[in-house]
Parts: sequence; C-alpha cells; structure tokens
Amino acid sequence: MSDRPFTPAYHRVLLKVSGECFCRSGESGLSMAEISTLSEQIKRVHAAEVQLAIVVGGGNILRGKQFAAISAEINPSTAHYMGMLATVINALALQDALENIGVPTRVQSAIPMSQVAEPFIRRRCVRHLEKGRVVILAAGTGSPFVTTDTAAALRARELEVDIVLKGTKVDGVYSEDPIKNPHAVKYGEITFQDVLSQRLEVMDAQAFHHCMEHNIPIVVFNYQKPGNIERVIAGEKVGTRVVPNS
Ligand code: UDP
Repeated sequence: MSDRPFTPAYHRVLLKVSGECFCRSGESGLSMAEISTLSEQIKRVHAAEVQLAIVVGGGNILRGKQFAAISAEINPSTAHYMGMLATVINALALQDALENIGVPTRVQSAIPMSQVAEPFIRRRCVRHLEKGRVVILAAGTGSPFVTTDTAAALRARELEVDIVLKGTKVDGVYSEDPIKNPHAVKYGEITFQDVLSQRLEVMDAQAFHHCMEHNIPIVVFNYQKPGNIERVIAGEKVGTRVVPNS
C-alpha cells in the first residue's frame, strides 16, 4: 500500500494481536523489530482516522494453562494472573513503539495498575477512540481461566465495534491444518454455523460463541504481510471473513 491514507470500510475496529506478534517466529519474549513492524501498520490505520482498540495477548511470555501444567507449586489461578500481567508487558512495549512514531495511545488495563496504565473504563475508552487515540487493552478480562480472545470478543461488544480483526501468522481459516495437509482449502468467507459444523478453529470457543451470538463479524488474517491490516480495514478480500448466518 502507498503512504496515502486509504479509505476505511469500518469506522471502529477491534484488533486482537496474539503474543506471537511480539516476538520472532518460534521464539518467546519481546522483539522490538517485530513490534515496530506491527506499529508501522497501526500508524497507517490511525492516519486513515479509523477508531482502533487493540487487545493484546501474552503467549510470547506466559500462558496460564501451560504454565500451571508444568508448575505443581503454582495455583492455576495464579498462573492465569501471570498470563494477564504478561499482556501488560506487551501493551507497554506497543505503546512506546507507537508513541515513538507519533501515534497517540492510551493503555487501559483490566487489572488496576495506576502507575503504568489507566483502568479499563468503557466510557473513557470510547472517548479516547473518538479523540483519535489508539487504545491498547491490557490484562484481558481481568479474570482467570479465559484467554485474550474472550477479552477481545467482550470488549468488541462493549465498544460497539464494526468488526473484530484477529491478526495471526496464518493466512486465514482452512478446511484442515495446511501444514499437515497441503491440499487444505482456505475459506474467503464462511458463516459462524459452518465454522461450528466443520469444527474449525477461529478463536477460542467462548470468544467465538460471543461473536456469533451478537453478530460481530471476525476477519482472521496474516498481519505479517505488509499492508494487510489496512487492506482488511479497507474492506479488501484478505484472510477469512466469518459472518453471521444468512
Ligand atoms: N488470561 C486470563 N484471563 C484473560 C485473558 C488472559 O487469565 O481474560 C491469561 C491466560 O492464562 C492466557 C494468558 O493470560 O493464557 C495470555 O493470554 P493469551 O493466551 O490469550 O495470549 P495469546 O495466545 O493471544 O498470545
């Protein structure tokens, strides 16, 4: 895409970025190079005057379920709280990367942490969006035993966004795992019902059901291809669009 702002098809968008977007492929921790690539794309979305809320994952640092499974001393709830704190680390890194290139941001955390972030307050969040600030939503839902996909689905409804974008490192939703079966077919568009009947993976089950129940469309796409975030927001056919049943 050129440097000129594009014409968005959506006014208010929720972007879910997994922890894997914050580190190099196959690694863990933080890579500022990866975060900068993401930030440059977000800058162009901001320049197009799209209201953008971003829910960040934490899997590059810690996932509660996995950590609890290998750490007998850790209470499962504690492990999930640790996972939520991991998302705060990512949120702060993304905030500084964005501000460094001139994008105004606010971090709002579902776990109050007044020294580093505002608390999540829906009305305040909406106000920031209206004023053209990118809002980075940290600490998931603030409750253990769910994932940031669920946080994304819940915030999407609260903030009344037009669409949920799930940025991943795969191109979309396939009929089967494309790594195991090279003949797997990628769907351009699929209904919520077909995702269920074919047992396909889009988001975690709770998040998926929430979006389905409230008719919130989801686009699963590869955020790593340069320009893909703005292409999706411009309404181009990128990734897989999961839409309400017709
Ligand atoms: N988490 C949680 N409640 C939430 C959101 C996240 O307990 O509302 C914990 C959970 O343990 C999760 C971890 O935080 O594994 C990191 O989030 P997630 O796994 O969704 O990150 P991603 O897979 O998107 O990188």
